[in-house]
Amino acid sequence: MKKRIKAEPFKIKMVEPIQLIPRPQREAALERAGYNLFALKSEEVYIDLLTDSGTGAMSDQQWAGLMLGDEAYAGSRNFYHLQETVQDIFNYQYSIPTHQGRGAEQVLFPLLIESPGQYVLSNMHFDTTKAHVEIAGGRAENFVIEESLNTTAYHPFKGNFDLEKMEAFIRKEGRENIAMIIITITCNSAGGQPVSMKNMREVSQLAQKYGIRVLLDAARYAENAYFIKTREAGYQDKSIKEIIRETFSYAEAFTMSAKKDAIVNMGGLIGIKDNQELYTQARSRVVPLEGFPTYGGLSGRDIEAMARGLKEGIEFAYLDYRIEQVKYLGDQLREAAVPIQYPTGGHAVFVDAKKLLPQIPFEQFPAQSLGNALYLEAGVRGVEIGSFLLGRDPDTGQQLESPLELLRLTIPRRVYTNNHLDVVAAGLIALKDQASSLKGLVFTYEPAILRHFTARLKPVG
Ligand SMILES: *Cc1c(COP(=O)(O)O)cnc(C)c1O
Repeated sequence: MKKRIKAEPFKIKMVEPIQLIPRPQREAALERAGYNLFALKSEEVYIDLLTDSGTGAMSDQQWAGLMLGDEAYAGSRNFYHLQETVQDIFNYQYSIPTHQGRGAEQVLFPLLIESPGQYVLSNMHFDTTKAHVEIAGGRAENFVIEESLNTTAYHPFKGNFDLEKMEAFIRKEGRENIAMIIITITCNSAGGQPVSMKNMREVSQLAQKYGIRVLLDAARYAENAYFIKTREAGYQDKSIKEIIRETFSYAEAFTMSAKKDAIVNMGGLIGIKDNQELYTQARSRVVPLEGFPTYGGLSGRDIEAMARGLKEGIEFAYLDYRIEQVKYLGDQLREAAVPIQYPTGGHAVFVDAKKLLPQIPFEQFPAQSLGNALYLEAGVRGVEIGSFLLGRDPDTGQQLESPLELLRLTIPRRVYTNNHLDVVAAGLIALKDQASSLKGLVFTYEPAILRHFTARLKPVG
């Protein structure tokens, strides 16, 4: 056992009991849930790695901030604190709070997609981001580099854009058919993988060449900055804030889910660098959708917690602990030859179920089967990111084959200790030896839309 010289940069002031219910109860719970982990009660879960979204632990400073909520309908002091914080961290003049990330998307995207059928280009759209592009009449296209699909090959920035491919697309479709480029940091769907500063700079240059606007989908902007500092030549001596400011200089606006790096349980944000006209338009649209522009669907107290969380989320000691904890779980799995997306990303370890369960075909959802087995084995809840999530071809009704079948183990911020992660690793390592006996799943109920959340399944034969 290697001796740790670094520990968590916090101590624990309040605890929430959790327990591992006995295996027969887990079996009954899973059957009742239709073999879909979304349908479990959280009390049936021992260690919950479903998502890092809104599941983080706020600090004492954030909880104290709740008591300073100014619940004025208009002009709350917490809004001004948020605005100052955004100006300081991102160097963006305008802020509009929203109830969460998708609230920011629904306000901003229709202003940027000017005519139906225009393309929005991204390294990889997050699912709600893609949905809001489509609701606004646009079409989402992804240009992440090929290396992100090869889980075993090291690449320091697997979230990067394939610039040649994107430029070829722009030329083929014509600049007037492109609404914008969205840089997703980190690239959630590719495994929380970072985008390099060089790549973002080149995206911005390409966009300028064709007169296309650039937006950031900035849910995990601080984790991305940490990876730049620790992996990209020339950034070792820059502060996280300097790296963030350079990152945001390459876009004109951002949408953000504050439930990730801003470490709040609910909240979102629109930031606009200096385009006053865009700000004025967004401010008008936010009123009927989210609320008056100084509260945007949030209580004053929640805005205060967000402003404080933004500052805590960019502290180097915190980020170092955070990313190292994800790596800690990933390293244990790799050492035991459990295949994972390598290197580990910022917020999760992605287990390669296609490699681990080659006997289960994609239409029987190997990563879902692995997730269910992990729940039975250790009471741990992960989430399938593969063909079950992807769904069917809307035209033919055929099940689509996802290029990757992944079980995502998402680490909430400041919630679990490394002992918890030891339990997760031990559970998966135990499953490795039973992998060949695991069976695929078939539907007993399949809703037409968003089936991932409510479908019911059963093990085959
Ligand atoms: C979570 C997330 C969103 C959506 O944010 P919500 O707060 O869940 O609405 C958008 N983009 C990315 C990259 C995300 O991770």
